[in-house]
Amino acid sequence: MNERYDAIIIGTGIIGAAIAFELAKLGYKTINVDKLPAAGYGSTSNTCAIVRASYSTWDGVAMAYEGFSYWNDWENYIGVPDEAGFAKYINCGTLQLKSQGDEHWRKTVALYDAVGVSYEEWGMDKVRERMPVLSSGSFYPPKRPEDDAFWDEPESELLGAIYTSESGYVSDPQLASRNLATAAEALGSRFRYNAEVTEVRRSDGSVTGITLASGEQIDAPVVVNVAGPHSFVINEMAGVVDQMNIKTRALRHEVHHVPAPANYDVAELGMHVSDADVGTYFRPETGNNILVGSEDPECDPKVWVEDPDVFDATVSRDAWDAQVLRLARRITELPVPAQPKGVVDLYDVSDDWIPIYDRSSLDGFCMAIGTSGNQFKNAPVAGYCMAALIDAVEHGRDHDNDPVLVEQRYKGMTLDMGFYSRNREINPESSFSVNG
Ligand SMILES: Cc1cc2nc3c(=O)[nH]c(=O)nc-3n(C[C@H](O)[C@H](O)[C@H](O)COP(=O)(O)OP(=O)(O)OC[C@H]3O[C@@H](n4cnc5c(N)ncnc54)[C@H](O)[C@@H]3O)c2cc1C
Repeated sequence: MNERYDAIIIGTGIIGAAIAFELAKLGYKTINVDKLPAAGYGSTSNTCAIVRASYSTWDGVAMAYEGFSYWNDWENYIGVPDEAGFAKYINCGTLQLKSQGDEHWRKTVALYDAVGVSYEEWGMDKVRERMPVLSSGSFYPPKRPEDDAFWDEPESELLGAIYTSESGYVSDPQLASRNLATAAEALGSRFRYNAEVTEVRRSDGSVTGITLASGEQIDAPVVVNVAGPHSFVINEMAGVVDQMNIKTRALRHEVHHVPAPANYDVAELGMHVSDADVGTYFRPETGNNILVGSEDPECDPKVWVEDPDVFDATVSRDAWDAQVLRLARRITELPVPAQPKGVVDLYDVSDDWIPIYDRSSLDGFCMAIGTSGNQFKNAPVAGYCMAALIDAVEHGRDHDNDPVLVEQRYKGMTLDMGFYSRNREINPESSFSVNG
């Protein structure tokens, strides 16, 4: 006899764990299956876990804004003790620098007004007062260090910044995933680790379960693909890819770890900074360090990965130079170490860098994928919305033609899950970058 559940969730990253918790609250008997040894060991383990609302669409901003409340209320939301402790939300605020050449911040202001995100617009005097470590020159457009113009003196200044006080980052993304799994277990959910899914079984147009590498079969009328950068592999197993307008693929990305200037106390003064002027973002890290990542400027080559199990996981000199030297233009006193240090992992990128939170053409088979380097912060909201979507579809809702609307738990906004459809047209409003 195969084990049988109401829903199987493939993946126990931050989003898979969040979906388990929310489905369990609706009374579903769930099992998460992950080939890795614990929750949050996949791409979640290397996330910068930045929590910000600066997306390119109303829906993107609204979902992220709702997410702020979950992180602020984390222990209460989890609702049960966890002997490993709780992930902490470091509410350091965000400075989104305004570059004359960049369009994204202009959109951000309009969308913050439309959604109701509280923010302040700062002139450069205020930026200098609050973060004196930042240089105020404009270097737009982002360039590569091998470009002679990279070292040109700036001819103009940044225009200021948008400050949001409620944003920040999560101290330990793996622990946050574990917290969600612990909360789901308390409601009866099961988690199986070191178990690789090799087959998604189906019959007469409906999903029936999964098969593991061991040959063991588990049955359920609902199977949810939350496999991160392996999402397209699981979708191929389910035979649903050809019926999707938006596809996903894996993109290699690096995040670098550098010491802050000695006179700059990042824990006290640091903020998350989005700097489209040079094409980077950065945030404080423990031990007076800075984490710096890429905002995907056009001049940087994209390293698409065909097999998410096979990619170069060592920090490259090329990416290090580009990212860290860009940061050194913004923080001129940055001590640049001789030895590169950082992490390498994969984004699961959709065609328009907006996730797919949806059902599929195979009845019972759903997906929360295409998170495009920007959905850690949204995981609890995605969990809540996916549970509502799955439950509605299981009760006969024709989501493709009559999209599920989900009233949000904290801020009361209504999110239209049709926005995240696998069959949408590519959204031209997207930044086509990590900014979503
Ligand atoms: C370098 C980097 C920086 C980032 N920075 C940010 C940030 O600052 N802010 C933000 O909001 N987002 C950020 N992100 C994005 C964010 O981390 C992801 O969107 C999020 O972690 C995805 O979670 P997930 O649960 O969907 O996937 P994952 O955490 O990748 O989990 C998927 C799981 O599926 C399992 N799996 C796959 N195939 C199988 C199989 N066949 N059988 C069994 N299990 C399987 C894997 O083992 C894995 O554990 C970043 C991502 C990266 C890589």
